Amino acid sequence: MARLNDNYLKLKAGYLFPEIGRRVKVFSEANPEAKIIRLGIGDVTQPLAPAVLKAFHDGVDDLANTDDFKGYGPEQGYEFLIDALIEKAYKPLGVELKKSEIFVSDGSKCDCANILDIFALDNKVAICDPVYPVYNDTNVMVGRTGEADDKGYYEGLTYLACTEDNHFTPAIPDKKVDIVYLCYPNNPTGAVATREDLKKWVDYALANDAVIFFDAAYEAFITEPGIPHSIYEIEGAKRCAIEFRSFSKTAGFTGVRCALTVIPEELMAETGNGEKSSLNKLWNRRQSTKFNGVSYPVQKAAAAVYSEEGWTQVKETIDYYMENARLIREGLEAAGLTVYGGVNAPYIWLKTPNGMSSWDFFDKLLSECHVVGTPGSGFGPSGEGFYRLSAFGGRENVLEAIDRIKKNLA
Ligand SMILES: *Cc1c(COP(=O)(O)O)cnc(C)c1O
Repeated sequence: MARLNDNYLKLKAGYLFPEIGRRVKVFSEANPEAKIIRLGIGDVTQPLAPAVLKAFHDGVDDLANTDDFKGYGPEQGYEFLIDALIEKAYKPLGVELKKSEIFVSDGSKCDCANILDIFALDNKVAICDPVYPVYNDTNVMVGRTGEADDKGYYEGLTYLACTEDNHFTPAIPDKKVDIVYLCYPNNPTGAVATREDLKKWVDYALANDAVIFFDAAYEAFITEPGIPHSIYEIEGAKRCAIEFRSFSKTAGFTGVRCALTVIPEELMAETGNGEKSSLNKLWNRRQSTKFNGVSYPVQKAAAAVYSEEGWTQVKETIDYYMENARLIREGLEAAGLTVYGGVNAPYIWLKTPNGMSSWDFFDKLLSECHVVGTPGSGFGPSGEGFYRLSAFGGRENVLEAIDRIKKNLA
């Protein structure tokens, strides 16, 4: 009989969102008249920007005539999109990238997972706790870990606690790791890293020959000046960091699918014989073999995000979500809750009142306010006692949800 990959059996069976769904279903069946407001899952709700939509349509029309028809595109992405990213996404930050350093893909989730293909299994890996579950679970899937303990920590991974005490920016590990995942602005805590915070990580990585996987999926939501949008704004980062970016949250592409990964040419890792070798070349080889590129109309749409008109419109939607975030944050603070995030990220990370557990608070808001968020403990043991609300809802729902929570806690 064929053998399956036993590593998958170590995973806690997709617990968080199915369990939320189960509890919501039980409640709504018992209370069919309740109008439930969902501010849980991190998905966007507002339509694509008109300029982006037009470019998308034009891209489809190109496929209708022989002269403009496109078949397979470059596995790395079309030059028109890579050029737009170099000029509009990175140059304004003072970051100069070469065309060969950007790889367009159909999502950051898959890139964050697939990147493990080009690293040896015996690398020591550190992830934050709480964390975007993809980083943890993909390391389990490839076989880098043992079993999970009672708390949910997998043997062999280093967990960096992000707590109220350290303002959700973890301390640099006191031991040597080879790979560290960082996500700023952070999902789920909404925390950001300052230039000084990131410099510490870059210095650590350079001193330890480590590689940083920097997930910048939410960089477009930074509102405060001075907060880095890219790890490459930090001197030396091109020698130690891979950056992931996505159009998903930035421009409402969660259903359209487009993202990018940056691997600078000077980023090296060690071969089995102790020689230095280019990760950029290896990733290019990996993508050319296992990936056939993002569809042409999607890349046309993505490039339009960085047109003058496109960016103005995309920014309006981001501002709309960040106004939601402000309303949620200020509303909950007025209700007496301790609240984090929501200033440079579309997530509000609130401390549950009176030391309530994350799931108890979830049940309370569901049954008493008919509002659904995400229990913090679902993102890792250090998320216990916290609860995440997303700012991606429609304005009316956000206002209604906050009003109900305020009245409930008053
Ligand atoms: C939403 C999200 C992404 C984006 O994933 P896509 O596959 O590009 O949609 C990446 N990282 C984090 C932390 C996210 O929350």
